[in-house]
Amino acid sequence: MVRPRRAVIVGGGMGGLALAARLRANGWAVAVYEAGPRTGGRANRIERDGYRFDTGPTLLNYPWVFEQLFAVAGRRLADYVELAEVDPSIRFIWPDGAELTLSSRIGLLLREFERFEPGVGPRVMAFMTDAERKYRLAFDRLATRNADGILSWLRGLTPADLLRSAVWRSLDGELRRCFRSPRLRQALGSYAMYLGGSPWDLPGLFSILPYGELAHGLWLPRGGMYALVEGVERLARELGAEIHTNARVARIRVAGGRAEGVELAGGRFEPADAVVSNVDVPTTWRELLDRDRRPPRMTPGVVTFYWGLRDSIGGLDHHTIFLPDNVRATYGDLLRRGRIPDQLAFYVCVASARDRSLAPPGGSTVFALVPVPRLSELGPIDWPHATADLRRRVRERLRRHGADFDAGRIEVEEVWTPEVWRARYGLWDGSAFGAAHGLFELGPFRSPNRDPDVRGLYYVGASTVPGTGVPLVTLGAAMTAERMLADAH
Ligand SMILES: Cc1cc2nc3c(=O)[nH]c(=O)nc-3n(C[C@H](O)[C@H](O)[C@H](O)COP(=O)(O)OP(=O)(O)OC[C@H]3O[C@@H](n4cnc5c(N)ncnc54)[C@H](O)[C@@H]3O)c2cc1C
Repeated sequence: MVRPRRAVIVGGGMGGLALAARLRANGWAVAVYEAGPRTGGRANRIERDGYRFDTGPTLLNYPWVFEQLFAVAGRRLADYVELAEVDPSIRFIWPDGAELTLSSRIGLLLREFERFEPGVGPRVMAFMTDAERKYRLAFDRLATRNADGILSWLRGLTPADLLRSAVWRSLDGELRRCFRSPRLRQALGSYAMYLGGSPWDLPGLFSILPYGELAHGLWLPRGGMYALVEGVERLARELGAEIHTNARVARIRVAGGRAEGVELAGGRFEPADAVVSNVDVPTTWRELLDRDRRPPRMTPGVVTFYWGLRDSIGGLDHHTIFLPDNVRATYGDLLRRGRIPDQLAFYVCVASARDRSLAPPGGSTVFALVPVPRLSELGPIDWPHATADLRRRVRERLRRHGADFDAGRIEVEEVWTPEVWRARYGLWDGSAFGAAHGLFELGPFRSPNRDPDVRGLYYVGASTVPGTGVPLVTLGAAMTAERMLADAH
């Protein structure tokens, strides 16, 4: 009889949990060791005095990714997680009060876009048709394929596919083909902030991000994003995965070029046929393998504010992005000059506006996310002073747009700096979203999901393939599982 294979997964982020479910569905024995008191990693939850906040992700795209995951085990996502569409989805606000609201309903979208660019209708349709083809190319052929080199990655692509991918053009250049209004381009290009680039240097292929949101909608699990983590954890447990929390891994043990298992912080050794790290790749190298390797370029950090307000916050719906006057200068401060931008771009989520169960009766949960440079770029910083200044600037800007609230109405407040994010989840250099996504940081250029030097050692999560975001790390779990299953034969 063939002995079942045993995998140990270090970290119970979304990538680790999804991989645990997939490996169990394929008959492997699986144990997840999570350092924190609960699973989810960055996608975590703060619960205080009746207020429930999602710590990190609040925008859920591509539910089909999770439907696929549950289907692998013969289950239905809808039996575990209730998803509601958020439409209209995101509102963008500029300092002069101009507003743009996105929607998956094409009539509403066209009306909004026309206000910024009269006559844009046919170009919106052309954008959607073109981005749809890119989206299919990315998800069917590029992002989800394990490839060890550029040639095997591109194998099977036709010259038309390559042309369509627009990887030699910038995201802004790609948007420029359809939209003359700088504000439409600023809004649709704002997704770049989370990928570690600007619209002027990320590849045009990323026009699939605004497209994906417009075409496939934006979703909120009932009970917040953490309900999705709970659903995937439940799936993994029901399939028989062991999930241990408060179980920090101190070291991945390697002997004779092979991963043998993990040593837990208490000293116990857990043997395994394969070890998978769901911890940021450079953190894994440095802290779990004692390897001194040059880390990949990482995405920026964030300062996040969690405010539980005694009453409702006027003027704000679920998702709002506040853009500055000079977007280029903000990206420059963030990505090149290593300083907190003079003009902030930030995101605010009021999830209680949509799901009343997230706050006590009459109250609101307000989450503000301010991108800032990574710790090594910021240098020594007085965080209490810096966060007080950011809080003041964010609230000033909210007030300017009619979303006023005074300090006396805040019942609960937490502030997480990049140092807090690093300490809690092992995020390398305080980077919020993992490794960056420039052209030469994708596919075979990205840190691979199979270690090239240590047999039986794999990776899953935001710093390996295909990239960051809750759906992407879940797709990445399928790719890591595919590698492991193939190697085991
Ligand atoms: C503020 C913020 C907002 C975001 N917004 C969105 C969004 O709106 N939509 C979206 O799709 N994505 C968003 N993201 C990105 C998304 O959260 C990540 O891409 C995704 O959750 C990463 O999952 P992961 O599998 O890499 O695991 P991680 O979340 O990195 O989890 C890794 C786990 O490993 C554990 N760990 C670390 N060291 C050890 C150790 N030594 N032993 C055991 N366990 C260990 C950690 O505690 C953690 O639980 C956001 C991220 C942040 C930070």
